[in-house]
Order: sequence, then C-alpha cells, then structure tokens
Amino acid sequence: MDLLPNLIGGQWRTPKVSGSSPVMNPSRGESLAAVPMSSAADVDEAVKEALKAFPDWRGTPPNERAQVMFRLKAMLEDEFEELAKGICREHGKTLIEARGDLRRGLEMVEYACGAPTLLMGESLENIARGIDCHTDRVPLGVVAGICPFNFPALVPMWMWPLALVCGNCFILKPSEKVPLTMQRIADLLKKAGLPDGVFSIVHGGREAVDALLEHPDVAAISFVGSTPVAEAVYQKGCLHGKRVQAAGGAKNFLVILPDADVEATATALKDSAFGCAGERCMAGSVAVAVGEAGERVLPALVDIIHSMKIGPTDVEDQPDMGALISAQHRDRVEELISLGESKGGKVLADGRNTAVAVAPDGYYVSPTVIDGIDYDNDLSTTEIFGPVLSVMRAKTLDEAIAAANRQSFGNGACVFTTSGKAAREFRHRVSAGMVGVNVGVPAPLAYFPFTGWNRSFFGDLHMQGREGVQFYTKQKTTTVRWFNFGEGDIWVK
Ligand code: NAD
Repeated sequence: MDLLPNLIGGQWRTPKVSGSSPVMNPSRGESLAAVPMSSAADVDEAVKEALKAFPDWRGTPPNERAQVMFRLKAMLEDEFEELAKGICREHGKTLIEARGDLRRGLEMVEYACGAPTLLMGESLENIARGIDCHTDRVPLGVVAGICPFNFPALVPMWMWPLALVCGNCFILKPSEKVPLTMQRIADLLKKAGLPDGVFSIVHGGREAVDALLEHPDVAAISFVGSTPVAEAVYQKGCLHGKRVQAAGGAKNFLVILPDADVEATATALKDSAFGCAGERCMAGSVAVAVGEAGERVLPALVDIIHSMKIGPTDVEDQPDMGALISAQHRDRVEELISLGESKGGKVLADGRNTAVAVAPDGYYVSPTVIDGIDYDNDLSTTEIFGPVLSVMRAKTLDEAIAAANRQSFGNGACVFTTSGKAAREFRHRVSAGMVGVNVGVPAPLAYFPFTGWNRSFFGDLHMQGREGVQFYTKQKTTTVRWFNFGEGDIWVK
C-alpha cells in the first residue's frame, strides 16, 4: 500500500518515518492507503518552508489572496461529485451526507472570498487635533490545524480558507483516518495559484501534534476532536505561548414537548441522531420527552427506523445510513448500548450485531433507540458518537432543561414545540452554544460562528464567521501626527 506523502514547500515529499497507519474504507473494511506517522523533524521542515513563504504572502494584497479562493471555488464545483464520492469511500457516510460535508466546506471558501471586506480595520480622524488613529488586522504568521475524522472536507475548511486569506501560512494535520480528501484539494489549491509553502500537509498522530504545539514558530493552533484531546491541546498550546481554539466533543439534548408536530419531529429526530451514523458533533444524542410526547413521537420514530436501509456508500444504489469509522469504534458503540441496557434502559430499536450481506466486513451498527435512561445511566452523560438515541422522560419543561444542563458539554440543544413561549424559555435557559427550535441539527453556516460552550470548546474565538477572522489576525493600532517642516512644506499651511 502506498505511503501518502506530506506537502512541504509546495512539493509532495515522502517523510522519513518508519511508522504508518492504514486508511480504511469503513463500508467494506478494506484498506485504501497508508498514512505516515510524521516526526518532529517533518513538522520542523514544514514550518521552515512556511516561514520562508510568509513575508511574500503577507505582502500580497487581500484582494489577490481572495482571487485564489475564487479560482478554487470554481475547481471545487467542477470536481464536486468526484470529491464527494471520495469522502464516501474514506469515511463511510452516504453520498448525500458527503455532498453536505463538501458543500458546507465550500461555503467557507466562498466566505473567504470576501477577505478585503472581512479584513477592514477601524479608524478615527482627529482623536486629538491633527492626530488620527487606525487599527489594522494583520496575520499571525505560521498557523496550524488539527482535524477529526468525521468531516473530511468541512472541518479542515473551517480553518485554512480563512487563515490563508488573512495572510497566514497554514500547516494542516488531517485526521489519520480520513486524509485523502484534503490530499486532493491541496492539488487544487496549487492549481488555483497558491504560492509554494503557504499551505502544507503533515500527516501523523500524536508526535506530529506535539511537535506543532511545541514549535516556537507556530503562532496559533486550531483543533477539532474529542474533549480530552481538545483540553490537552488547549493547555499545551497555551503553555507554549500560542493562540488556541479547540473544539471538543458533545452530548446534544433534544427536548420534545407534548404539542410538537409528530411526523416532522420524528423525521427531525431521525436526521439528528442517525445522520452520518451519529458521527456528528451536532448529532442529537438524548431525547427528553416531556409528558405525553414520548407516547406520541417514539412509535413514529421507530417506524421510520424500521424502513431504513443500512449498507455500503461506495455504490450507486445508496443506503439511508452507512458504516461507522472503524471496527474498534463499532465495538465501543455496541458496548455502550449494552451498558445502557444493563443499567435499566429499554431497547426499542436494537442496532447491535448488524449484518450487511453485500459488505460483511464493514463496520455497521443500525439505528438504536433506548428508552428509560435516567441520571444514573452512563448514556445520559457519555458521548457515544454513533447511531444511538437515548430517551429520558420529564414531567415539565423545567425538568427537561435541567436534564439538558446537567451534563458537561454545551455544543447543541434543540426543542420541538408549537409554543413560542416555551421555545423562548428553552432558548433563554439552556446551557448550550447552538440552539435549534424545531431544527434537529442547528449547525450554523460559514458566516456565523460555530459557538460551542462548556466542555465542547476551549478558547475564546470560535471557528467560522467574524470570530474566525479575529482568531487568524492580530490588531495593530497606529496613531499618526504629521508636523510642518518649515521651507519644504510650503503647500500645507
Ligand atoms: P480525536 O480527538 O481522537 O482526534 C482528533 C485529532 O487529534 C486527530 O487528528 C488525531 O490524530 C489527534 N489526536 C488524537 N489523540 C491525540 C493525542 N493524545 N495527542 C495529540 N493529538 C491527538 O477525535 P476523532 O475521533 O477524530 O473525532 C471525533 C471527535 O471530534 C468527537 O468527540 C466529536 O464530537 C469531535 N468533534 C467536535 C466538533 C466540534 O465542533 N465541537 C466537530 C467535529 C468533531
């Protein structure tokens, strides 16, 4: 199996490492490539090349930097279907989901096309007589991004389009499980006219991440992944004097009130909990059914589940849901279902031991619903990251909000109701950074910040939107006064 090269100084280079990790097609349990576990020396090489490229890229006018993104956007549209199919192969999500992954990433490229406007500073004439003041946004230097497996296109593209148009050089450490999509897009970036060294890829795992966190010439780190790693990356990056934004795991609650529309809510629950096989940081994980809501909505949800087709996504005839990322992850999800059951949960739809005849070696767990989860059950607090919806019961909206606020994460929370007052109360009191009202996946688009809270985010400035621009720039404030200089200055009185 070919070892993927790193992209350093505009060249694809084979790293000098002995270790590698297989990239699998989860639909079939077959290996697609091998990813190198790059060393600190590989990281250092990438940083040195990026530092060389920085002065010229920083001096390139924002409008010219944006032109690279306009050209890239056109190329991504041309190659859209092929790239989406590639995402299906390395991740296992369905083609519709892969298109969504890429489309949301492409919207970050479109947003970055607005660089000249996004980078505008502030100024005030006459802060004192004859004195003016200007604040400019300037790039940080060499910055790096470390990504999770669940969105091979979108998550890296939360980072580098904005970082680049802000004038930084960017080093990407893709997920070792899904490195192929960015490998292809890096070629397009070069074709779009990005100078060598401005964008680099260093593959690997912990050693490469540590090297980026410790490198004195890396100014900032963007991280997305699980909470324990996000917290460790945040702490280590800060310790080494870097600006860090680190998005972590999630446990998103979906509160259903008795007045919710049954069909629409059941469909939204299905999309939220089982879309991308539950491997989304905005996936609904616990439904809190208030009063009669459970009796109204759960039977409709279980009916939908029974009509869903599970299978490989690297084929024309697409299923409704694909595989999980690895055999190890599949086993962990199945163990958690069993743990939830052993602590009193009642399994209404059981996805364990799913056999897919056409792909017997794929990593499948079918949609699972497990009712009767209470505060003592691990499923009320642990991130599962698989197609499992746990159900809690509550008598009132107050109780449901208390349940949602009890766990430690704070990415998303949703309410399903026809009452504006109840929705307003939920939005006001729930402790999560992204709220959905009759929307099961309230993930904001490129021009809004992706505002995770609590243990779902470590840092001050989030990805996407204006916060993204703020993260990748620092402000320089200049105060200006001009004196008259006697004879030569005859035209100013
Ligand atoms: P992960 O934490 O295992 O890996 C993320 C990245 O960190 C990878 O590039 C990996 O190589 C690296 N890494 C892993 N262990 C490390 C260590 N000990 N030291 C340094 N680097 C390490 O996450 P994953 O399994 O790839 O992705 C799933 C997780 O990502 C879920 O918890 C999910 O909620 C989260 N996620 C969060 C968001 C968000 O916006 N909050 C978005 C997408 C995914």
